[in-house]
Amino acid sequence: MNAAMTAMLQENFRFLKLSTMMKNFEHILRQALENKLGYDEFLLNLTQAEVQVRKENGRKRRIREASFPLHKPFDTFDFDAAPDLDARFINDLAGGSYIKQNKNIILLGKSGTGKTHLATALGIEACDQGIRTKFITGCGLVNELTEARDEKRLRQLIKKYFNYGLLIIDELGYVPFSKEGAQLLFQVLAERHERKPVIITTNKGFGDWTQIFGDPSLTAALLDRVTHRAHVINCLWQSYRLSETLKNSGGSYGKNRI
Ligand code: ADP
Ligand code: MG
Repeated sequence: MNAAMTAMLQENFRFLKLSTMMKNFEHILRQALENKLGYDEFLLNLTQAEVQVRKENGRKRRIREASFPLHKPFDTFDFDAAPDLDARFINDLAGGSYIKQNKNIILLGKSGTGKTHLATALGIEACDQGIRTKFITGCGLVNELTEARDEKRLRQLIKKYFNYGLLIIDELGYVPFSKEGAQLLFQVLAERHERKPVIITTNKGFGDWTQIFGDPSLTAALLDRVTHRAHVINCLWQSYRLSETLKNSGGSYGKNRI
């Protein structure tokens, strides 16, 4: 290939935004000539790296956009510390079954049982599978919605939250919402109902959700939507942090001791 042709090819790569192919082209061409590869193999090798880099960049972008509080993938989750958790079921969820079926997941349990860790790990898996994900606390979401309503851009924000392939709402119930805050959150959840999956972590049993949302009829309507076709995971085991502390201090700890 002469210099003019190479320059034109480089220009085409640039125009088509194929930067990895542009970078690797000469090396892959040389390799193909040396190894007497066919056109098909050459083309496959050339496109392969571009696809890998694009996939990896997309994955990194989704993880960044999700704004997980900490990087906690499944390989850092100790299933032995969550004895009642069915690892096969969690594995199935991690594969994205609930996303395809637009089902919600509710992780319910005391502080320190790994709810945020599990929600984050599921979120990371979703990002790996190409799903645009957002992680936010219940309070953070209500604050954002309140601000948007005050600035008359509520519809826009609700649309933004609808567009995520997976929405993770962490720590629902730690702080009760104002009447308006509860109504705003209801709008986001009602919009996604049966259309897009939501993962919720909470320390409050459903019977206590009126304490979070105030109004009993709003709570009933919200529970009806959120729990409909949802996977409810009861995290009844001991706090992981407490187990660790007891282990390190030499204290005994049992499966059901809190
Ligand atoms: P929760 O959200 O239920 O209050 P977290 O997910 O924040 O609990 O867990 C508290 C801490 O313990 C975190 O650092 C988390 O990574 C860790 N942790 C909890 N459960 C496990 C587990 N089964 N394996 C590994 N780390 C865990
Ligand atoms: Mg948590």
